[in-house]
Amino acid sequence: MSSTYNQLLDATIQHLEDLKSRGVRHVAVAPETLRALAQSPAAKSQTDKPAAPPPPVHSALRTPHSAISAPAAEQTTLLALPGETVPSQSPPLDPQAKAVAFAALRERALACVKCPHLASSRKNVAFGVGSIDAQLMFVGEAPGADEDEQGEPFVGKAGQLLTKIIQATGLSRADVYIANILKCRPDTPGQSAGNRKPTSDEMATCIPYLHEQIDLIRPRVIVALGATAVEGLLGKTIGITKLRGTWKTYRGTPLMPTYHPAYLLRNQAMSEKRKVWEDMLAVMEKLEMSISDKQRNYFLKA
Ligand code: URA
Repeated sequence: MSSTYNQLLDATIQHLEDLKSRGVRHVAVAPETLRALAQSPAAKSQTDKPAAPPPPVHSALRTPHSAISAPAAEQTTLLALPGETVPSQSPPLDPQAKAVAFAALRERALACVKCPHLASSRKNVAFGVGSIDAQLMFVGEAPGADEDEQGEPFVGKAGQLLTKIIQATGLSRADVYIANILKCRPDTPGQSAGNRKPTSDEMATCIPYLHEQIDLIRPRVIVALGATAVEGLLGKTIGITKLRGTWKTYRGTPLMPTYHPAYLLRNQAMSEKRKVWEDMLAVMEKLEMSISDKQRNYFLKA
């Protein structure tokens, strides 16, 4: 094996150890890199020896968390770091370790500059809010102006409606966890108002933070608010109009797609409110929450 190869290998291991010591639990590896690793002198010499164990970096291959559509060359496979196991298969952390890991994750997200255009335009990172032990997690699209101002998801008009929906189930914002696909507000250069949808690149860059939030919180149910949230968690699927109200699964966790509250603000029809409410009733049933007759009948015509 060449000394250059060994130097690169040592540097890679050192880098992974550094990441691990900073709390990073996964690295994204492009398929080409995996193929190149398999053809590397080290891997070749391993295959020459029939009973040799695989190199550690190959030992914990896992499927991607999300199927955000990215160009084929950019699609990545997530590998657990050496010595790590896949979170969904690993035992839950004890409460203190969980709080520490969550705080470390938050610190990393707050300092993130992976999207330089968003890092320079944002006022605050809206990481997430609520209980890290929540059984129910809501995922939206991205912070708007109010969320950017306050550094908290869903605090503007759509957020106030989401809060009402949560309260209608008998829960409060503090009982659930609320996060977005993007932690920074999508910039709108040259515009003084308005929002824009996150780009695929921005989503692919930011989504690992959400995956880690979900891995740590381990909610029993996820509600995906609107098409972008569904796309971020499940990949591109059929439209939200057909998808809403049908149970999906995000890595083993039941996921309910429903309309984004901003849609309900634009379309005030009782029938649309009822659809979101029916989705929430299904969520409450899944969580074995008690449901009163009054709750069952919300938004039904008299
Ligand atoms: N819309 C979202 O999707 N998320 C927010 O935090 C606010 C509005």
